[in-house]
Amino acid sequence: PTGSLVDMMDATVKTYTSAVALDFFGATTSYSLLGEQISRVANGLAKLGVKAGDRVALVLPNCPQHIVAFYAVLRLGAIVVEHNPLYTPRELRHQFEDHGARVAIVWDKVVDTVLAFPKDIAVRATVSVDVTRAMPFGKRVALRLPIPKARTARAALTSSTLSKGAISWDTLVTSRALRRSHPRPAVTDIAVLQYTSGTTGSPKGAILTHNNLYSNALQGAAWVPGLQPGKEVFYAVLPMFHAYGLTLCLTFAMSMGARLVLFPKFDPGLVLDAARTTPPTFLPAVPPIYDRLERAAAERKVSLTGIRFAISGAMNLPVATVQRWEAATGGLLVEGYGMTETSPVAAGNPIGPSRRPGTVGVPFPSTEIRVTDPDDPSVDRGFDEEGELLVRGPQVFAGYWNRSDETAAVLLADGWLRTGDIVRVSADGFITIVDRMKELIITGGFNVAPSEVEEALLAYPSVADVAVVGIPHESGGEVVTAAVVLVPGAVLDAPALRQHCRGLLSAYKVPRTIVQVDELPHSLIGKVLRRQVREQLTRTAG
Ligand code: ATP
Ligand code: MG
Repeated sequence: PTGSLVDMMDATVKTYTSAVALDFFGATTSYSLLGEQISRVANGLAKLGVKAGDRVALVLPNCPQHIVAFYAVLRLGAIVVEHNPLYTPRELRHQFEDHGARVAIVWDKVVDTVLAFPKDIAVRATVSVDVTRAMPFGKRVALRLPIPKARTARAALTSSTLSKGAISWDTLVTSRALRRSHPRPAVTDIAVLQYTSGTTGSPKGAILTHNNLYSNALQGAAWVPGLQPGKEVFYAVLPMFHAYGLTLCLTFAMSMGARLVLFPKFDPGLVLDAARTTPPTFLPAVPPIYDRLERAAAERKVSLTGIRFAISGAMNLPVATVQRWEAATGGLLVEGYGMTETSPVAAGNPIGPSRRPGTVGVPFPSTEIRVTDPDDPSVDRGFDEEGELLVRGPQVFAGYWNRSDETAAVLLADGWLRTGDIVRVSADGFITIVDRMKELIITGGFNVAPSEVEEALLAYPSVADVAVVGIPHESGGEVVTAAVVLVPGAVLDAPALRQHCRGLLSAYKVPRTIVQVDELPHSLIGKVLRRQVREQLTRTAG
């Protein structure tokens, strides 16, 4: 089946009319009210001149207005462009230059940044959103959010007053709904421009169509068969401006009439407070979040039982994390795999006893995979042989915005997507991620996958965080180098750490150099940015 996100949302509003759709610090919005708000904001946007095919920028943390704005833009056949509101003004400006949105819906703390963009940036209307005003009754919620670093003192002081030149969100919520006859988007239309995480280079705008995202929500429902439409409580602790949260929290929750509890940032205290009254049944997140939540719950003696399904993705899931989480919740924690370019999920472990920790499971329904020679995608590899993963399916994106060369490099003519990830697939179809092609370390003719070495180092009690990279050596190869952050009070004992690694890894994988650092750079979703670590260490080594 194919479809649009707008039709999907309309069907939910019709079916689960009086059920709670959104829960923001206890302020709730029913599906019928949500549907009405979407229609009114769509009307407000149409009055601002938004037309089918226009880009509308959202620069918002998770909040009720984010969801209303998302579906209102889509209803007009326009394109949502998601942004990380904590990006620096420079990073945001680059993205705005790229997509050329004329209307931006922006967290009030960032409005001054958008208003200060140079004249050649296309934004003509900036809508300011005060996220402490929960929809739809204007009830205020107390929030302590990270304020963007580059804020002006004025912006901080005038947080709830409207910046000069901005339009208030209330103005957008017109008293009338959009005409029913207003044209709706087609399934093949672009729905979202979603920037990649920027782990290996600068972020690229992935073009996701309605059908891409619609398909991934349906595939998700087939993946987690135990979910009951209209009855589940989803927690959105992942940011909805990233591909993972966009589908697993936003569209997936809406597709099944779930109650979506929104967190504008991940904070174990906030999550545990909410869990006391409305415990989640479904929690998509990343390994560091599961670890922190499990530790905080144990300290505060809050029970996590009731979380039946937890889904991890975006980075390697250590087996130790699975064991601790499952012991604490009695539910399952299974790993999936995907990328922005696959809307984002391409594979997942079966949710049940046949899941296989250490693997990312099997391809999603209607999804085909191949494993090929990294230097030549026309040459297939056999079972259990390492090679580049190729993916084909209804969730595979339509290319990168404004980047035809990079599109041509990854999207092959017959619909196959080159993922850039090295994997192994067992005879019964389970996929093991080895690492990214670009980040494999070449040492003395062998390839070392940094994630395997990182997992070994993390198993050492005093290691809190780690990045493993290859530092160029004058002999031509690379030296396996680990940058480690230790738990407070610990002292680096490199020989002991190497000894520990020798028990878990072949000798050539054991880091030759180990350096202690105070902290490591992470992407917005928590991936360690090895590229930056490598650049830093290469500079200090050279
Ligand atoms: P960029 O493409 O801008 O360099 P990025 O690839 O990190 O950034 P995303 O689309 O958010 O941006 O991430 C997709 C990548 O995340 C995959 O290509 C893969 O390398 C990694 N990944 C996703 N799931 C897993 C997983 N379960 N285990 C290991 N790696 C994963
Ligand atoms: Mg990528």
